[in-house]
Amino acid sequence: MSGNKSFPPVYTELAQEASENLRQALPLINKYKTPVNPVNYAVWYEYVSGKNQALRDEIDQRLSCNAPITSQITQALFEKYVLFDMPERLENANNGIKLVVDNTINNLNKAESTTSECAAELNDTQSILNECSDIDTLKTIVNSILANTQTLTNSSNDLKLELEQSSIEMARLKAELEQVKEIAKIDGLTGLLNRGAFDKELHTLCSESGDRVSLALFDLDHFKRINDTFGHIVGDRVIQFFASLLKKYSANEHIAARYGGEEMVLILIDLTQQQAIELVDSIRSDLANSNLKQKNSDKSIGQITVSAGLSFFQLGDTPSSLIDRADRALYKAKQKGRNQIKIN
Ligand code: GH3
Ligand code: MG
Ligand code: MG
Repeated sequence: MSGNKSFPPVYTELAQEASENLRQALPLINKYKTPVNPVNYAVWYEYVSGKNQALRDEIDQRLSCNAPITSQITQALFEKYVLFDMPERLENANNGIKLVVDNTINNLNKAESTTSECAAELNDTQSILNECSDIDTLKTIVNSILANTQTLTNSSNDLKLELEQSSIEMARLKAELEQVKEIAKIDGLTGLLNRGAFDKELHTLCSESGDRVSLALFDLDHFKRINDTFGHIVGDRVIQFFASLLKKYSANEHIAARYGGEEMVLILIDLTQQQAIELVDSIRSDLANSNLKQKNSDKSIGQITVSAGLSFFQLGDTPSSLIDRADRALYKAKQKGRNQIKIN
């Protein structure tokens, strides 16, 4: 791996070493039939680079007992060994910030005590000056004032430099925290928001402006069959394809998330009931008409469909009552034969 505990990981390999890693990683991605996506590539890249021993040990151990290495496993390995443990990274960033603040306070205290010492000496010179009549004493006084002024200038320059450095370090730590926060919201397979981030968004929307919200819960139909017939990699690709439809339809106006497994959710904002129904039904019919092909072949994997349950915010609704109604509507859509949407 990157070899240091930086976040995001920093790779320092030269081009030649990196392309050698690429040459070795690709056959492994192919051999274990995980899709070529950035997560899987990062895992196998780190594996062949030999610099991430813990990751290597865990994979070797799985291989030695013939345990499968699926996309779900590589996702977990990615989070565990490539991206470091989130709480640990957050703590590191917090400690970093604390350190910068402590340093800044120390520097301010140091500068303050230098300033007080100089002020005291200048005070003394002032009283001598009042009684001074000869040129030599005056010269000594001028030199002392000069020296004090120089000390003050140096101290304030040092402080300025130190504060500038602190502020650069603070900006770096702030960016790191922002990045950790953003990554923690995203589902690795689909790039949609994950369940935790969805829960937060829905909670905020319901408490601030619930009447603007409708909720659509989607569940891919007979998905087990897709996995059983074509394997998990194809299953993953179908999930990714459906997520891309949700992204397209949600644009920057609505919020799409992976609710769990092959279930996704869409928070629709500022749509009339009719508009919400039309949008959700367009997603359903786009998927049904999409004729996905098997990788590296022209063979279709057959029609893929999705069922959806839609609920509209009512006075007194909470996030869970809204989800609950969408869930019951989804259940009805399944019961009525799938590939359709129901409202509750
Ligand atoms: P239904 O029409 O009633 O929804 O039937 P179904 O077969 O889709 O049933 P269900 O929703 O209970 O099954 C979901 C399956 O999705 C089970 C699980 O193995 C699979 N699955 C969940 N997450 C993933 C994933 O990330 N990748 C793949 N390939 N499969 C997943
Ligand atoms: Mg399901
Ligand atoms: Mg399903």
